[in-house]
Amino acid sequence: MDFETYFKNELGGLHQEGRYRVFADLERQKGNFPKATRHTAGGPQDVTVWCSNDYLGMGQHPTVTEAMKNAIDQCGAGAGGTRNISGTNHHHVLLERELADLHGKESALLFTSGYVSNWAALGTLCSKIPGIICFSDAGNHASMIEGIRHSKCERVIWKHNDLKDLEAKLASADPRAPKMIAFESVYSMDGDIAPIKEICDLADKYGAMTYLDEVHAVGMYGPRGGGIAEREGLMHRLTLIEGTLGKAFGVMGGYIAGSAALCDFVRSFASGFIFTTSLPPTIAAGACAAIRHLKVSQVERFAHQERVRRLRSALDRAGIPHMPNPSHIVPVMVGDAAKCKWISDLLLDNFGIYVQPINYPTVPKKTERLRITPTPLHTDADIDHLVGALHSLWSRCALARAVA
Ligand SMILES: *Cc1c(COP(=O)(O)O)cnc(C)c1O
Repeated sequence: MDFETYFKNELGGLHQEGRYRVFADLERQKGNFPKATRHTAGGPQDVTVWCSNDYLGMGQHPTVTEAMKNAIDQCGAGAGGTRNISGTNHHHVLLERELADLHGKESALLFTSGYVSNWAALGTLCSKIPGIICFSDAGNHASMIEGIRHSKCERVIWKHNDLKDLEAKLASADPRAPKMIAFESVYSMDGDIAPIKEICDLADKYGAMTYLDEVHAVGMYGPRGGGIAEREGLMHRLTLIEGTLGKAFGVMGGYIAGSAALCDFVRSFASGFIFTTSLPPTIAAGACAAIRHLKVSQVERFAHQERVRRLRSALDRAGIPHMPNPSHIVPVMVGDAAKCKWISDLLLDNFGIYVQPINYPTVPKKTERLRITPTPLHTDADIDHLVGALHSLWSRCALARAVA
């Protein structure tokens, strides 16, 4: 086989469908978040980032960067092994305690990313628990889908956030089979929020365990940043809560929190936990500092929500359509892949505004959008500049305005 030709042809297909991904080459500027230097063939360009998942700017918070500097001076660069073979650093142990406490659980377990935590925990639980049926929300993240698929368990996809459909599917399954309901709190692309309490009620009624991905909520919701389940007083009702250290906590890594036996079980059987080098101590120390800070500080959360409201009302005044939702994610709807890419390119090249276009297959066709994520560090001037730029591009692109 001519491998090179095969690779190039497949890539050509992506280009033709407008799905080929081009990465912006960014150099983040410490102390100047959300500004970054973008490297282009024509030289460097200053940009304002409007699509970061470092939702609160914690990736540059002095408390976090100081903790990381101290840890590198104290412990060096890498962890030096897998968790089992010399790679459990004291910073990992402290971080796992911090995470268990954050979610009101007995235990927590660290992974190298949120993706790996979903893939490994779901893959292990669903393959090891005999005869388990996994009821998975249709909107679940790729990492959950891959984990469930990898487990080869029986899986039932229920309509996104649809309690009637979930109950109908639970009711028609074998009552003796062990069951799991796997879902997210805040969904990344639409920013909608799951009815967690009602899902837990159904889980109780049908004897299912619950697996909640709070990746887009940890650090940002709840009085201590425990997520939507904390805000609603529901953490104790979830069997397992999964989160990331790479979004609002500003660093990197993933985790699950649950009972001591559950975490010990995953620790002992999950290949994706066991056979990989653990996170560098610096990362663990930085994440730990971010979590501790956000457990006691409301400043970032309040400022974040205020910025989101301000951006939304500025968009409303300009008649730019954005999807209403109860979260911090502001999807500005374009509904056309080519226009979405065109707007995003012009925002970047002409206005120094970086928002990655979100096209199929990440979202359904005709719902192409700019997924805008305001942070506490975007200023009024940043918001005015963004909305002004969108306003002028909207007219040039002949896109429909929202009716106020
Ligand atoms: C980003 C994301 C993950 C993966 O987390 P990482 O730490 O980035 O690997 C998991 N679940 C959802 C819903 C996500 O959006």
